[in-house]
Parts: sequence; structure tokens; C-alpha cells
Amino acid sequence: MATATKKPRYEVNVKKDWCKGCGICVSFCPKGILALNEEGKVYAKDPEKCRGCGNCEIYCPDFAISLGRLNNESERQNKVNAR
Ligand code: SF4
Ligand code: SF4
Repeated sequence: MATATKKPRYEVNVKKDWCKGCGICVSFCPKGILALNEEGKVYAKDPEKCRGCGNCEIYCPDFAISLGRLNNESERQNKVNAR
């Protein structure tokens, strides 16, 4: 019997000190999950919808975004707890 493959999960890491708030990554995110906060820094407003395309990482001129792949739920939880 075939088993369902779980979708990979991703986390979007933003180096806030490096982000200049140009909005390029916001424009290039096909899922529309990135936004600028009141400080003019990018954050992922809906990270669960990230499909890991890498556009944000590729197009950021300041290398302020990096993408991480979370393999399972406990790893995700550890990341959340570490914040
Ligand atoms: S990897 Fe793609 S879907 Fe995920 S936040 Fe970046 S641009 Fe959006
Ligand atoms: S492209 Fe880079 S510098 Fe511009 S808003 Fe996004 S993270 Fe910030």
C-alpha cells in the first residue's frame, strides 16, 4: 500500500540587521507570504505556506534571507522553542 509523502516544511530566516526593506523578496514570493513590518524589515507572515522555491534567497541583494528545510514536526518545534 502506498503511503502519503509529507510535504517538506521550510523556514525563512531573515537577518534583520542586513535587511534594508527594499521589498524585492516580497515581490518575488509566489505565495505572497513575505511582508515588511513596522520597522521596515521583512518577515514571513504565513511561513506554513512557503514552498521552498528559493526566490527570496536568490533575489535578495543583501543576502539577508536564507531558507532552511525542516524535516519533521519535532525539529520545527525545537526551532520555534529556540526563538
Ligand atoms: S522560498 Fe519561495 S515561497 Fe518561500 S518565502 Fe521564499 S519566495 Fe516565498
Ligand atoms: S530583498 Fe533582502 S533587503 Fe530587500 S526586503 Fe527582502 S530581505 Fe530585505
